[in-house]
Amino acid sequence: MHILLAEDDLQMGEGLTLGLKSLGHTVDWVQDGIAAELALKTESLDVLILDLGLPQKDGLSVLKELRKSKVDLPVLVLTARDRVEDRIEGLDLGADDYVVKPFDLLEVNARLRAISRRREGRAAPLIEYANLVLNPAAREVTQDNLLVELSSYEYVVLEMLITHNGRILSRKFIEESLYGWDEGVESNAIEVYIHHLRKKLGKNLIRTVRGVGYTVPKLAS
Ligand code: CA
Repeated sequence: MHILLAEDDLQMGEGLTLGLKSLGHTVDWVQDGIAAELALKTESLDVLILDLGLPQKDGLSVLKELRKSKVDLPVLVLTARDRVEDRIEGLDLGADDYVVKPFDLLEVNARLRAISRRREGRAAPLIEYANLVLNPAAREVTQDNLLVELSSYEYVVLEMLITHNGRILSRKFIEESLYGWDEGVESNAIEVYIHHLRKKLGKNLIRTVRGVGYTVPKLAS
């Protein structure tokens, strides 16, 4: 997805940009309402992630203008926990959904998928790899048509490896994608997810490239 992120908090903006990019999105990050409006006019976007407390022009005003000009772009609003009225007004003004800070990167990603799916009025596309079928919306995997129980982190690691098309992903890259700017991670967490995935899906699916990282090989076409 091509995402416009309007967020003035540097740490959150950086974290979200890095995290969403690592999940395969294209992210343009702007830090005030005027810059957001300019980008909305000039770029072809799939979704706007909009912080309501923006300098120059606040998020609700940006949203109001956007909807007045009848732009049918999905909007996910970021709000602080104590700003219930803003949230309600945002939804009334045509936001599709909102998340409350602090939030989890995976939650944001799931909301993005849900709103773009609703907009497009279709079921989420499935990702197929060999005898596996991944359903990103439900975070479910079937192997030879049988459902395999994965934790949501295990699912995301698997989807990341498969959708990177044979690229080798370092442990650090996977770690940062999963946790973004979030709190510290157990140092062996990724190894544990990989170990579980191998146990559940077969030991040959994910290859370890010693000293570099992990990969799911590209299928010969
Ligand atoms: Ca803000």
